[in-house]
Amino acid sequence: MDIHGLQKLTLLDYPGKVACTVFLGGCDFRCPFCHNGELVEGPFPPPELDDQALLAFLRKRRGLLDGVCVTGGEPLLRPDLPELLAQIKELGFSLKLDTNGTHPERLRRLVEQGLVDYVAMDVKNSPARYAETAGVPGLDLTPIWDSVSYLLSDAVDYEFRTTVVREFHDGESFRAIGEWLAGAKRYFLQSFVDRDTVLRSGLHPWDERTMEDFLALVQSDIPSARLRGQ
Ligand code: SF4
Repeated sequence: MDIHGLQKLTLLDYPGKVACTVFLGGCDFRCPFCHNGELVEGPFPPPELDDQALLAFLRKRRGLLDGVCVTGGEPLLRPDLPELLAQIKELGFSLKLDTNGTHPERLRRLVEQGLVDYVAMDVKNSPARYAETAGVPGLDLTPIWDSVSYLLSDAVDYEFRTTVVREFHDGESFRAIGEWLAGAKRYFLQSFVDRDTVLRSGLHPWDERTMEDFLALVQSDIPSARLRGQ
């Protein structure tokens, strides 16, 4: 499998673990605020390594790293993902999967096979503004609802998170998200940060005070909700 990026050490991406992060290309969303534009729209950068090189790297890091984060793009689009995760598991690492929630059945299968220990799902916005925020006009939200319901069932350890962008999110967004994710185990609001690699220019973060207001709104339904830096 082509691997488009490897961050060899992260203390932030996998809660409670010393980990590395593996980036896979391809995504079925076009979030205007996406930081990984070249992994979404292509042309993809040349692969940094293949799965065999990744496994060789991990063999050398046994005892130094606890976990591996697999992100994208959307990793669940890759048909050979289960095989890669199984090989990483065999080496004794915990696995965290980042997903946009578009493939609930693939997610469920990985969990049932014991190939994922922690899932971080992006919740882009309230249902009313989801398609616009994901950059996919007419998006069918059914798989997103299914993924949210599955994670809320506590089948696997998880978090939800929303990247908050002034052009897409307001108080109504967070009232609706709070109702939708009520009682979630973990929910993080992270402020949009502009970068050269963002898919669409001209987007802005909200100020700190407004982020606190949004947090207070969701905390009435999700007491565990927190702000997270990026
Ligand atoms: S933010 Fe995530 S879901 Fe959205 S386009 Fe980028 S990789 Fe895909």
